[in-house]
Amino acid sequence: MGLVVQKYGGSSVADAEGIKRVAKRIVEAKKNGHQVVAVVSAMGDTTDELIDLAEQVSPMPAGRELDMLLTAGERISMALLAMAIKNLGHSAQSFTGSQAGVITDSVHNKARIIDVTPGRIRDSLDEGNIAIVAGFQGVSQDTKDITTLGRGGSDTTAVALAAALDAEVCEIYTDVDGVFTADPRVVKKARKIDWISFEDMLELASSGSKVLLHRCVEYARRYNIPIHVRSSFSGLQGTWVSSEPIQQGDKQVEQAIISGVAHDTSEAKITVVGVPDKPGEAASIFRTIADAEINIDMVVQNVSAAATGLTDISFTLPKTEGRKAIDALEKNKSAIGFDSLRYDDQIGKISLVGAGMKTNPGVTADFFTALSDAGVNIELISTSEIRISVVTRADDVPEAVRAVHTAFGLDSDSDEAVVYGGTGR
Ligand code: ASP
Ligand code: MG
Repeated sequence: MGLVVQKYGGSSVADAEGIKRVAKRIVEAKKNGHQVVAVVSAMGDTTDELIDLAEQVSPMPAGRELDMLLTAGERISMALLAMAIKNLGHSAQSFTGSQAGVITDSVHNKARIIDVTPGRIRDSLDEGNIAIVAGFQGVSQDTKDITTLGRGGSDTTAVALAAALDAEVCEIYTDVDGVFTADPRVVKKARKIDWISFEDMLELASSGSKVLLHRCVEYARRYNIPIHVRSSFSGLQGTWVSSEPIQQGDKQVEQAIISGVAHDTSEAKITVVGVPDKPGEAASIFRTIADAEINIDMVVQNVSAAATGLTDISFTLPKTEGRKAIDALEKNKSAIGFDSLRYDDQIGKISLVGAGMKTNPGVTADFFTALSDAGVNIELISTSEIRISVVTRADDVPEAVRAVHTAFGLDSDSDEAVVYGGTGR
């Protein structure tokens, strides 16, 4: 029996009862003969509450201090969890990210892990302890300041430690039973996926699925660490995310044609109206956006009106970057040479993901038919080899997701999708 890394999210350790329940699970894994490293998130909504608190004392808290504050959340849960495990008669030691050897760059609030040197964790395990590690945090190689990895970063901590410790598996415990074919909060008949490839999981994550963060899956793929996403509230098998299909009993799980439907209502659309239809225009618009360090998602250019030689260019971006993008474009208005800007944050994106669409004709047609049968109007379209995405009105998203889910035969026969905890905040 080898080493397992388990990660418990905020909803799993939301209160004392939750911490005691998680402690029992960890001890069980230890009793089964594993060496166990448990990575924890802050309790419940602690991180949000700390951010609210920071904003009450300063509208723009300094990144360094915000990181110092936020990492306290994970410290609370790691210490409590170690105490709860000791209370069950097993030895446990808790470690901050820095003590666990999580080395990052120096970008506060969204640092990247550049190295993991888990010597202390290894020693602690070899002494027979269960090691508890605070997720979402590290220490900057250059400045030696404490950093955080960005919201939801504990998953990345877990995968990074699993890679550095050469773990058998990284188990991510959450408040649903695994990765579903759609968000179970929206689609009651969403089905739990038994196995999904890293590639399809990456597309789902970048299309708005929140179970796993893109960065965490990317890391797992790079080091080929299998992830098992499962619930800390039930004993069920969850979803395996790995490079090769898993074996279930004596049968091999097959690659599905369509893995799932993801949706995202966190984006806004900017339309640059009245752009001269000549070379270099798109370049200067998107250079302006890039210089403001804003990531964009979809881009569409309309055909230009013959009479005026003007065209419109629309693109989507995170709502949180909307103000910054508008300001940057307005500032360069005369240099770029457009008429006006339109900003729309009442949009949503629906994406169909699956490697099987490469070899199955008609997927795109079926997708658009399902949307039209549901009376949903499409505003933008973009595709990759294994994904089709459309932008619609935000209000249409739940209905559209359900319609597409049904059209592709993804509905389960039972209402198996249970959401155990979490406020979705
Ligand atoms: N506590 C942090 C957050 O809420 C990190 C995590 O949960 O993974 O974003
Ligand atoms: Mg959290």
